[in-house]
Amino acid sequence: MGTGDGGAAARCALCGTEAAGPCARCRAPVCGDCCTLTDGGATTFAICLRCERRGGASLRPAWLGLMGWLALVLLALAAVAALLTLARS
Ligand SMILES: [Zn+2]
Ligand SMILES: [Zn+2]
Repeated sequence: MGTGDGGAAARCALCGTEAAGPCARCRAPVCGDCCTLTDGGATTFAICLRCERRGGASLRPAWLGLMGWLALVLLALAAVAALLTLARS
């Protein structure tokens, strides 16, 4: 939606005014009125109201997904390393 202009300033994905920054979860640009600040541990994140309504003001699901993804990559690397070691001996 709204891909008409190649405008310079990012527009808020919810109300269309000038965005203040990207949502920490879905990366959609949002303005100050359409985002909510949430405590993600050591840092404070801004997530859009759409994400807040969908998953609550917590970044935990997103973090878990990232961790799972990293674990998969590490597993693949470990498998390759093991295969290389086996092939050499
Ligand atoms: Zn907005
Ligand atoms: Zn969002």
